[in-house]
Amino acid sequence: MGTEKANGVSKHGIASKIPAEAHPLSEEPTEIASNINYHAQFSPHFSPLKFEPEQAFYATAESVRDRLIQQWNETYLHFHEANPKQTYYLSMEYLQGRALTNAVGNLNIQDAYADALNKLGHQLEEVVEQEKDAALGNGGLGRLASCFLDSMATLNLPAWGYGLRYRHGLFKQLITKEGQAEVPEDWLEKFSPWEIVRHDVVFPVRFFGQVQVNPDGSRKWVDGEIIQALAYDVPIPGYKTKNTISLRLWEAKACATDFDLFQFNDGQYESSLQIHSRAQQICAVLYPGDATEGGKLLRLKQQFFLCSASLQDIIFRFKERKEGKTPLQWSEFPSKVAVQLNDTHPTLAIPELMRLLMDDEGLGWDEAWDVTTRAIAYTNHTVLPEALEKWSQSVMWKLLPRHMEIITEIDKRFVELIHSTRPDLEDKVNSMCILDNNPQKSVVCMANLCVVTSHTVNGVAQLHSDILTSELFADYVSIWPTKFQNKTNGITPRRWLRFCNPELSNIITKWLKTDEWVTNLDLLVNLRKFADNEDLQAEWAAAKMANKKRLAQYIHEITGVSIDPNSLFDIQVKRIHEYKRQLLNILGAIYMYKKLKEMSPEERSNATPRTIMIGGKAFATYTNAKRIVKLVNDVGSVVNTDPEVNNYLKIVFVPNYNVSVAEMLIPGSELSQHISTAGMEASGTSNMKFALNGCLVIGTLDGANVEIREEIGEDNFFLFGATADEVPKLRKDRENGLFKPDPRFEEAKEFIRSGAFGSYDYNPLLDSLEGNTGYGRGDYFLVGHDFPSYMDAQAKVDEAYKDQKKWLKMSILSTAGSGKFSSDRTIAQYAKEIWNIEECPDCRDEMI
Ligand SMILES: *Cc1c(COP(=O)(O)O)cnc(C)c1O
Repeated sequence: MGTEKANGVSKHGIASKIPAEAHPLSEEPTEIASNINYHAQFSPHFSPLKFEPEQAFYATAESVRDRLIQQWNETYLHFHEANPKQTYYLSMEYLQGRALTNAVGNLNIQDAYADALNKLGHQLEEVVEQEKDAALGNGGLGRLASCFLDSMATLNLPAWGYGLRYRHGLFKQLITKEGQAEVPEDWLEKFSPWEIVRHDVVFPVRFFGQVQVNPDGSRKWVDGEIIQALAYDVPIPGYKTKNTISLRLWEAKACATDFDLFQFNDGQYESSLQIHSRAQQICAVLYPGDATEGGKLLRLKQQFFLCSASLQDIIFRFKERKEGKTPLQWSEFPSKVAVQLNDTHPTLAIPELMRLLMDDEGLGWDEAWDVTTRAIAYTNHTVLPEALEKWSQSVMWKLLPRHMEIITEIDKRFVELIHSTRPDLEDKVNSMCILDNNPQKSVVCMANLCVVTSHTVNGVAQLHSDILTSELFADYVSIWPTKFQNKTNGITPRRWLRFCNPELSNIITKWLKTDEWVTNLDLLVNLRKFADNEDLQAEWAAAKMANKKRLAQYIHEITGVSIDPNSLFDIQVKRIHEYKRQLLNILGAIYMYKKLKEMSPEERSNATPRTIMIGGKAFATYTNAKRIVKLVNDVGSVVNTDPEVNNYLKIVFVPNYNVSVAEMLIPGSELSQHISTAGMEASGTSNMKFALNGCLVIGTLDGANVEIREEIGEDNFFLFGATADEVPKLRKDRENGLFKPDPRFEEAKEFIRSGAFGSYDYNPLLDSLEGNTGYGRGDYFLVGHDFPSYMDAQAKVDEAYKDQKKWLKMSILSTAGSGKFSSDRTIAQYAKEIWNIEECPDCRDEMI
């Protein structure tokens, strides 16, 4: 594409009849086209002979960026002058996905850009596909952070996101004969058009060294090594507002003067560059393997790097604005700064803020503690014991000696508080305090440090928050009853409906006679009264079919499997984890397959044809998760090529699940599976994305499923499985040998063991479902217990799908009931109930 186009693209690639001019703010397609052309010529990154979709993408992105920079700089200046209280969201992960569609959509200029690109011989839909996903996150937690940024910008909130600029984000997943293979993802291989380096924003971050005690008793962290944190900013535009906030990603660099020219000239090339190589390690990858001591140390360095650079920046900004008309005191820091910790990964922000306030700014302990505890809040994302971070005290003393002194002091004062005020908690002290000094462990419990210090601790769905206050953090609740809150997660309706599903969006806008639902998702309830309307149902069905066909084509392109758009599209996409129970899904599919094979052709012709799609990445060292990936692929190979049944059942593993893949799958899905063991999924957010797009949910009473079912009505939700409060007793019963497996469950496992899906040894995986106790045994996730009720629920799905009118009604009610799950609602609650910040729109010169 791109050369010798009738519409003005010369053989030199770049459109010849269209001048290359910088018209950065025009909304005229012709002027936009010349602006794109301008970037192709004057911000060149490629040799001039080509103007193919890839070159068109970079030039278009740079043209869009011009506009963003304008709004962005104005927002920055506005916040500087208005000096409101600001929120700083600290997260080790952001799962941003692609930015171009979102940017032109939020700026409301998609049509003009589509026209402009046409003039240049390109299609916007094709051009946006050239962008690599920014996958600086792993799953739900990182995607949540990205949805939150979109809502903060849209709600005109003064807010910043802070993260790390990983050179390689999450790995790219390939599916081979052996199952999952990981190769590095490289979003910076060429460059990212969205990031702006701020050469003037650099902070030193120290590691190792020791604590120096001064004659006046004050303490100072000295020596060790210093790595520079350099800011790269990514603009986050709000939807139809000028407000454009920043995601500031830190890059690690050695100081130029650290280069040992003498060593280098002496031929010691390796050692002369050592500090540079150590700096590069810090932001090389998200989640470096932590099986080795070196890996653990590197992860801790990453966490501290984020916290230290961000807090130095926050303090710098506070000081810059402190000398206004009425100079601010340090005690007023919490009325200008709210810091939110996205899980425990940025916990080191706590001792780092204490250190900066005491050792650099000269505050006393009490004053620093008062400021810190009023500024910092913590979101818990999991109750899984293996995910509650604990760092070795000896590693921490080595890497962060001053911080360990501070943590030890916080711990000491907390224990004293219990001794003096709550003798009834005396026997709980060991589980509540921060330092676990048991010589076998000798660790720092990061969640405990967060709970003791933060002014607010929140869970991410009502059930999860209830489990936090009644179990995990119950003892703290008795000390600080008002510290704990719930903030049910949400998703941005821009990316997850308006832009990923334009067909359905247009129908919604038409029937609601307004597009205000995009920023006020509660308006979707007004669809309820049309749920039985045949015209709406027909349009709804047509949109779903268009999306299913698009999805079928995509599946065919990447896997070679043909799937039937008339079959029920049943999808489970999320990280592969035993608690999320993809194993339950595939065992159910195996059982369905076996039954279909046993049927006569007449019986079979009554079956509801189904296409099951499963996707997700397994962490590289998580063996059982990788076995599950392999099993899904093996079962698919057999089922999809079995001519007896493959008109009724297909099973597809969708490789390399990421945000862009999700945007393709979700609009085309009709049933989605959110089937975690009750009590284990804190919230889930893909359940919300699917429900919003009119996809019905089969699920357990876990996380936000509970609230989704409440909102859309229990008749529109396929419920099964044990409830969270039954789970402990079921596990006990199992240990006591009281579990009686359902014959259908035994049949499905036996079928795998018989070799029906190849010769790979699945016994270690299946054995996890056997026995009563033991490591990797005893069915901790209750797959066997929930299997029969799961199969019963699936039978109800098959029946319901046969009545398309009823199904469509349920689908409409699902969208209509999803208003609560907008991240705008979630963020408005954080702003009011945790951060105490207010919207700060820039009204100086209304642009939009
Ligand atoms: C939404 C999302 C998730 C979270 O999915 P859950 O089912 O809630 O675990 C993970 N990955 C991607 C790419 C997502 O978009």
